Amino acid sequence: MSFQLNPALKSSIQRITFIGQLLFQKGWAEKNAGNLSWDVTDDILEPLLSLTEFNVHPYADYPAELQNRWLFVTGTNTRFRDIEKKPDQCLGLLHFLENQNGYACVWGGQNNFKPTSELHSHLRLHHFLLKQKKIFKVVLHTHPDELIALTHLPETNNPETLNWALWGMLPEVKLFAPQGIGLVPYHLTGTDILAQATVEVLTHGHQVILWEKHGVLALGTDPEDAFDQIDVLNKAAKIYLLCKQTGQNPQRLTQSQIEEISRTYQKKI
Ligand SMILES: [Zn+2]
Repeated sequence: MSFQLNPALKSSIQRITFIGQLLFQKGWAEKNAGNLSWDVTDDILEPLLSLTEFNVHPYADYPAELQNRWLFVTGTNTRFRDIEKKPDQCLGLLHFLENQNGYACVWGGQNNFKPTSELHSHLRLHHFLLKQKKIFKVVLHTHPDELIALTHLPETNNPETLNWALWGMLPEVKLFAPQGIGLVPYHLTGTDILAQATVEVLTHGHQVILWEKHGVLALGTDPEDAFDQIDVLNKAAKIYLLCKQTGQNPQRLTQSQIEEISRTYQKKI
């Protein structure tokens, strides 16, 4: 008997599917760009009694905290827009084994599925979230145009001026992203150095990290939350660039207006 999805896990697949469609419609997920993982361990109501019917994939040396965790992950060379048509080929539900030597793909994973090539980075981030006892369960990487564009402009390619630009565009940015967006200098995609730099910047309390000249990495309590954080920040980036396209500098909210938002509406993450 194969693994039976309970209603919560079926709902998780639908929610990943919906966010996959939104990412594609936004133009943030060209070709097979982007990837997502979601720690759904809390939704696993019954432990696996036997692994004999599942293929166990060797995978060495994941942190002890990830033993017995369950993660939905997107596949390498799969498209966000295709999840709706073929969820069991674009997603896998991975159960990380107790002995730290591999995982079993207990649902999905059809048609030569391999987890995202960024799996190592995702695991590193989930490990960080568990150790820090954060509320976030989702790690989402995608390519929002306007935020990426800001890292190509010298005036916004540093954390201070980047957040100064974004917070000044509309009040909700300071409200929903009080810590601002973290900025990680360019590193080759898929490398441990990029993952390490991302974790280092996340320790400053950011929910979204902008990888210079590449894309964003967002944390979320669920896929909708991760998407919303990127959407709010990218909206501000878009308005900033719209103003610049007129040949003028945006007037911005004033510093005292931004401080008033902080004083009145505090969001703790
Ligand atoms: Zn990317």
